[in-house]
Amino acid sequence: MTERYQKSQELFAAAQQVIPGGVNSPVRAFRGVGGSPIFFAKGEGSRLTDVDGNSYLDYVLSWGPLLLGHAHAAVNQAISDQVVLGASFGAPTAQETKLAEQVIGLVPSIEQVRFVNSGTEATMSALRLARAFTGREKILKFTGCYHGHADMLLVQAGSGVVTLGLPDSPGVTAGAAAGTLTAEYNDLEAAKAIFAAQGSEIAAIIVEPIAANMGFVLPEPGYLEALCELAHAHGALFILDEVMTGFRVSPGGAQVHWNLKPDLTCLGKVIGGGLPVGAYGGRRDVMQHVAPAGPMYQAGTLSGNPLAMAAGSATLETAFTPVEGKTPFEHAVGLAEALANGMRGLSEELGIPLQVGQVGTMFGFYFLREAGMHVKSYADAKQMVDAERYARFFWAMCERGVYLAPSQFEAGFLSAAHSAADVEQTLSAAREALQAK
Ligand SMILES: *Cc1c(COP(=O)(O)O)cnc(C)c1O
Repeated sequence: MTERYQKSQELFAAAQQVIPGGVNSPVRAFRGVGGSPIFFAKGEGSRLTDVDGNSYLDYVLSWGPLLLGHAHAAVNQAISDQVVLGASFGAPTAQETKLAEQVIGLVPSIEQVRFVNSGTEATMSALRLARAFTGREKILKFTGCYHGHADMLLVQAGSGVVTLGLPDSPGVTAGAAAGTLTAEYNDLEAAKAIFAAQGSEIAAIIVEPIAANMGFVLPEPGYLEALCELAHAHGALFILDEVMTGFRVSPGGAQVHWNLKPDLTCLGKVIGGGLPVGAYGGRRDVMQHVAPAGPMYQAGTLSGNPLAMAAGSATLETAFTPVEGKTPFEHAVGLAEALANGMRGLSEELGIPLQVGQVGTMFGFYFLREAGMHVKSYADAKQMVDAERYARFFWAMCERGVYLAPSQFEAGFLSAAHSAADVEQTLSAAREALQAK
């Protein structure tokens, strides 16, 4: 085992000397599964190669962005065409308008959009905008939902905060946290009670349409619609954080899949095709409050960066253009279904209780402590999930050439570069890994 990952371990030791924890984003450190993180040297299509020369089928895909897989020819071409013209001008370019038009074409609730550099910036800016628009200070978020690492959002957050078991983060001021109200995900009554008490002070509800930073938790039927109605009944905005689900659950995101009409939407991940991009957009009358059209200040030296716009445009264009009657996106959805069904089958056959979820190109599964349990919220996830079992499974899969998220509290992804044979190989690896002691 040690030998297999020897170079990774050496690189990690060196990284820890100069980078806190050896990583630039916490969940990469493998605290959720133990051991030392794998350092990668190369990605191609559905596969990754690590620095020790081991090859893996990749279901992390840079945490979602790589809808077309690694190093897709169209994305690489778009980036290299642009890079010879210059990487950044800090001035408007046609590429920004092009990507904006593509986004607006795919996501019907978005009438205007502003590009930023990360999902964190997208949610932070959307909330500032909601406050500016409503003249109110508070927001409502849900326990275990992750919306990036802005101060007011690091309250009951998911992703690495869940994996590392941090309740909140030191450094977040009481003032920043005070405006953030939280309710349990999928608990409509809890949200209603908060609005009954403080509705006139709440600027917005922000929610992940699928809670995919505490594993993979689907909204109960009607829950998101009811949240939207609740916000509007009290004069608050309804913000969908589709940084992960955007262009993945359907071409128009979760909102098209479930026919939701948010006032604002946050995007990231896929929209940059592997380069750093985020965006927030929505109702024109709300977006007109953003500077310089309106008074709410938000800016960025590298925002709308031409390389990133080119990569994002090429990704969206390629993913949703049919090849022989089927889009690459639809191909990926079919494989995600096959993978999820295969995992359900293995769970039943081997008598290992798994909660398997899948929508569009995304999936997730929990190892449940007991059959019959069903995770609907973060409180459930904490009680019902066997994290140690996942850790063993994760490493057994790595040994069999399959790379999953190094934490059970993260979603998995398919790309257009995956094949039916990849999924079959993954399922036979999973059969062995589930049976391994
Ligand atoms: C990843 C993610 C973010 C944060 O995006 P970054 O680009 O990592 O800042 C925000 N919201 C959701 C739902 C995410 O999955």
